[in-house]
Amino acid sequence: MAEPLLRIEHLKKYFSTNKGTLHAVDDVSFTLQKGETLGVVGESGCGKSTLGRTILRLHEPTEGKVFFEGKDVTSMGKGELKALRRDMQIIFQDPFASLNPRMTVYETIAESLLIQKIYTRRQQQELNKRVTDLMDFVGLSSRLVNSYPHELDGGRRQRIGIARVLALDPKFIVCDEPVSALDVSIQAQILNLMQDLQDEFSLTYLFITHDLSVVKHLSNDIAVMYLGQMVEKAPSSVLFSRPMHPYTQALLSAIPVPDPDYQVKRVLLKGELTSPIDPEIGCRFAKRCPFATDACTRSDIPLREVEKGHLVACTLV
Ligand code: ADP
Repeated sequence: MAEPLLRIEHLKKYFSTNKGTLHAVDDVSFTLQKGETLGVVGESGCGKSTLGRTILRLHEPTEGKVFFEGKDVTSMGKGELKALRRDMQIIFQDPFASLNPRMTVYETIAESLLIQKIYTRRQQQELNKRVTDLMDFVGLSSRLVNSYPHELDGGRRQRIGIARVLALDPKFIVCDEPVSALDVSIQAQILNLMQDLQDEFSLTYLFITHDLSVVKHLSNDIAVMYLGQMVEKAPSSVLFSRPMHPYTQALLSAIPVPDPDYQVKRVLLKGELTSPIDPEIGCRFAKRCPFATDACTRSDIPLREVEKGHLVACTLV
């Protein structure tokens, strides 16, 4: 197989807190091929955003490596990293928070192109054309070119956020809960748009969400995180039809809408969420797991490939 676009090796991100060391991302490894989507799911606080930000070096990793097109991102100096910023981008959950309220749609998108010196102010005609093309790509009417964010609904604001990222012609995008703040009807439109853009521009996505149903159709593979660690990873259809880790089973059985595509026995979570601060050895899910045995807390449980492309970190499997 060709060199993956992204290769993550034993990535860790710890934060020092006054209570101890918080293991936000704790030894995560995976690869992602060009043009594919990896969905990253798990409850709030399990380290999804920190993983995405550490890959982009918006957070400095505590340990581990990130390779992008074979180049070691973790050892890059500022200059190299700046050049890479165009290739590796992020779309945020709340576009309103990341958009400048005093800038029109035109100014917001043009700013991306000017900051990265893709165009200069002297190339006004080319700049105008590129901005209107980008608005067209993301389904924003050119009538909105002089609108301000507060005049637009959440879906349109997210379209501006996407256009601004697309302006840089990126290869890889961390999508951090990009539809979670939107109404369900608008969510589908934005997800469709993201899929179309992926096909058109061969984009590679790391798609972070707490909502499994959002990534089901969009992802090639889905990775499930629990307290900073990846506990299961499988092709999307396999994860939904044959989830093996008790935590994944619990997540799936908590999806409220009955889905004929998969049938899992209901697994109810018991016990308290273990703290990510100085975690004890062994499976971090053990205290809540209905099937836990002594073996689960004797040593750390590595991810093992149990069938082709299906990795699980569980002593029971
Ligand atoms: P998720 O995206 O899955 O909701 P996060 O990556 O935001 O999870 O957070 C993972 C853990 O790291 C949480 O316990 C959170 O409180 C902690 N955390 C995130 N950012 C920081 C930070 N800058 N300083 C200290 N702790 C942080």
